[in-house]
Amino acid sequence: MRLIFSSLTIIFLSFNISNSQILQNDTYQYFIDLNKAENDQLEIELITPVISTATTEFKLPAMVPGTYRVYNFGRFVSGLKAYDKSGNELTTEKKDVNSWEISNADKLYKLKYFVDDSFDDTSDEKIFEPAGTSIEKDSVFIFNNHGFFGYFKDNLKNEYVLNFTKPDGFYGSSSLANTIRNNNLEVFTAPDYQFVVDNPIMFCLPDTTTINFDETSVLISVYSPGKGVKSKDLSAKLKDLLNAIRNFLGGKLTADRYTFIFYFTNKEGSGSFGALEHNYSSLYFMPDVPKESAPYMINQLQSTSAHEFYHTVTPLNLHSEEIGNFDFNNPKMSKHLWLYEGVTEYFADYIQLREGLVDLKEYGKNIERKISGSMMYNDSLPFTEMSLGALDKYEEQYFNVYQKGALIGLSLDILIREESNGSMGLQDVINIMLQKYGKDKSFKDEDLFDEIVALTSPKIGEFFQNYVAGDQRIPYSEIFSKVGIKVKSIPYNKIDMGGVQMGFNQKTYRLVIKQIAEDNSFVKELGVKNGDELVSINGKQINFMTMREIFGSLKNKIKTGDNFEMVVARNDESGTEKMETLKGVVSKVKTAFDSEVIIEKDLSEQQIKLRTAWLGK
Ligand SMILES: [Zn+2]
Repeated sequence: MRLIFSSLTIIFLSFNISNSQILQNDTYQYFIDLNKAENDQLEIELITPVISTATTEFKLPAMVPGTYRVYNFGRFVSGLKAYDKSGNELTTEKKDVNSWEISNADKLYKLKYFVDDSFDDTSDEKIFEPAGTSIEKDSVFIFNNHGFFGYFKDNLKNEYVLNFTKPDGFYGSSSLANTIRNNNLEVFTAPDYQFVVDNPIMFCLPDTTTINFDETSVLISVYSPGKGVKSKDLSAKLKDLLNAIRNFLGGKLTADRYTFIFYFTNKEGSGSFGALEHNYSSLYFMPDVPKESAPYMINQLQSTSAHEFYHTVTPLNLHSEEIGNFDFNNPKMSKHLWLYEGVTEYFADYIQLREGLVDLKEYGKNIERKISGSMMYNDSLPFTEMSLGALDKYEEQYFNVYQKGALIGLSLDILIREESNGSMGLQDVINIMLQKYGKDKSFKDEDLFDEIVALTSPKIGEFFQNYVAGDQRIPYSEIFSKVGIKVKSIPYNKIDMGGVQMGFNQKTYRLVIKQIAEDNSFVKELGVKNGDELVSINGKQINFMTMREIFGSLKNKIKTGDNFEMVVARNDESGTEKMETLKGVVSKVKTAFDSEVIIEKDLSEQQIKLRTAWLGK
């Protein structure tokens, strides 16, 4: 059946392409020829759905789900032109960075425009690559579809057909339904715009492995320019992980198909690595590593993959209206990032612990890192407020969702078990809510705390009011000791660098000063300039490993009045790198706290009971 349908459609399509009179209907019919990429730019052709209004607006998104950042994908579009059936140009007017108004829209037949990729964007507004686009002729294409394909504001629910002409042997990895796939042509369809955005595609020569479970087929697709990481090696690790998640979720995975898209890069990108979640896939952007380092990378990816996969639970199947009725061009934030990102991060690690992929000692180290990490952010800012302001006011605090957010998850899990006498945990509460809500039904942002309290106890309500919606600091040691995890908090002095933003140069492996706040006297006095790369402090080399120690730590005690000598690498006018030694005196320190997490062995009866309930053994 499928074969007949496919070959017929091919004849139909090629006939139509050559005659450039494709029948217009209710669908968005997109045509892209990957062979015609030039200077990392692609021409996009759209046979539009029939529009019945006199004017319409064509839009690309300002933001997409899961990123919690406004990116304005319209800024990569240029040369947009609209035509009627006879090929006459219609008037278009750019309304804002993401919108084009089209006159005589009831005559509209075709749009043509060019798209530049975001991976090579040189502006300061870098897009986190897992949400971005890449056009590398003859090697790889990343279609985060929201970067290429747009929508008319009243036609978000129309079907999309994406027709790709591709280089010989290229393969499009995606969870989108594929209606045609041959050597040079690939056609994907999606029921609406949200679905197009939710399903990225990677085109390249394939390195893929499939893992089959009874209910789910999982595709692992890898692009590694140095061929250091192979889909076969990754899939061995991911199979263990998916089995663990499957066990944990009650013997079934949440999606009927799933695609892991791994893009490894040998170029300097935005400076961040990571992944973005979707209902049926996740897309990873990581540094390409040589074969010898691949096992380390694969280990690292186990936790990242666990995080992304757990997102199929929340926010994808458990979310408030702000996420459920996602507005691509006027995004609204929910108060509950602690749930979407924090609880996800908690479960990513906890599932591995509970299912035996990591032991309690290793898990303890992980809590230690999360507590220390969370102390780099404002610990008394209510998490619900941070969440509402994550796009603007509290942008800088967002990354705390992976630190404190996860600790909120652990605290809740322990407290819910204590209150239920061990019979119920956080996942049980989520399971009940999944039954009630799910992908297509949103909860009300305002009601979430009350709903969880109704399923658990008033004590949980107090926790939410004090520590999630309130400004009180979570008493980690008190809560975690209920399962025999001791947290020792130890103060130390740290050099107050003030408002300095740092990046990382992947070529030199050095930290780079990106921006210095105007009122930052210490760094200014030293003579540090934007673009300086940090080489050493007081004779000690600065790198990722020593970074936390070097500005002051328990081991490296620092006080005001200490001499301070910093070597930076700086380019002179001719672009030649020179080493500069900057000298000063530490003028300001601030108190920071380091935490030590100890897994206790001597437990009370109550602690044994709760730890057993928490670990499930
Ligand atoms: Zn996440």
